[in-house]
Amino acid sequence: MFWLIGLLANRTEAALVIEVDFSGDSQYQSVFESAASTWQSLLVGYQDGFVVSRSFGSSAMLNSQLTTVSINASVVPIDMAGGILGQAGYTAFAFDQSGFKLATNGTMEFDSADFVSLTAAQREALVLHEMAHVLGFGTLWTDNGVYLNESGEFTGANATAAWQSEFGQNGTPDVELAGGPGTANGHWNEFDNGAGLTGITDGLGRDMTFELMTGWLNVGPEDPFISELTLASFRDIGFTTANATAVPEPGTGGVLVAGLAVGMGWRRRRSLAEK
Ligand SMILES: [Zn+2]
Repeated sequence: MFWLIGLLANRTEAALVIEVDFSGDSQYQSVFESAASTWQSLLVGYQDGFVVSRSFGSSAMLNSQLTTVSINASVVPIDMAGGILGQAGYTAFAFDQSGFKLATNGTMEFDSADFVSLTAAQREALVLHEMAHVLGFGTLWTDNGVYLNESGEFTGANATAAWQSEFGQNGTPDVELAGGPGTANGHWNEFDNGAGLTGITDGLGRDMTFELMTGWLNVGPEDPFISELTLASFRDIGFTTANATAVPEPGTGGVLVAGLAVGMGWRRRRSLAEK
């Protein structure tokens, strides 16, 4: 009996917890909590996650299993409407004994003056998208050896398999090279500004342009979806994941404005007005 309980406790030890410490306009808190719960349920945990070293400021404990990514999130006045929409990224990391570089802490900050003009569906998609960057999508690719800057090709084995099986493509997944710093080298490829269908579709007929982790969130008949490709890319940088199709999709209802650039990293300029 006790042995069984111990075993179960052990198995859940590596489960991923995304802890959001929210400040600012409280009406938006639930958007961040719901995004955290979506990524928690999709990314599940780490393949290894046993911390052997960590950066300054990391909340990870040495010589123990990483379970928690702590994110400081806020929706506060930054510079009035326009200008800076927000910034998001990891702020501290750890290396596990398998050599994966894993985000342990991060920050997400949005300008309340811009946030208020987005629809609920846009906010939901934007926060989900930015949280993926905090967790390593596009931001920890080169350091984990699955992407060479300016190559336009993601070389991780899991994502490559998904690219071929889920989207029926050859070779390795195409990475965005346009859009400038913050967009280039950190997203799946689509036409610039998200203009037009890519013709690259999954088994459900969903076009790549509507995938959550392309460089621009798009208007369309479909809400952004999280592909198996995106989850596979997280497996290539140290996570274990659920199956994308086994989990209810986020972002139901509403459509997204064309050309909403969804960058990564710091001090991203707002590009709503650009086409
Ligand atoms: Zn982005």
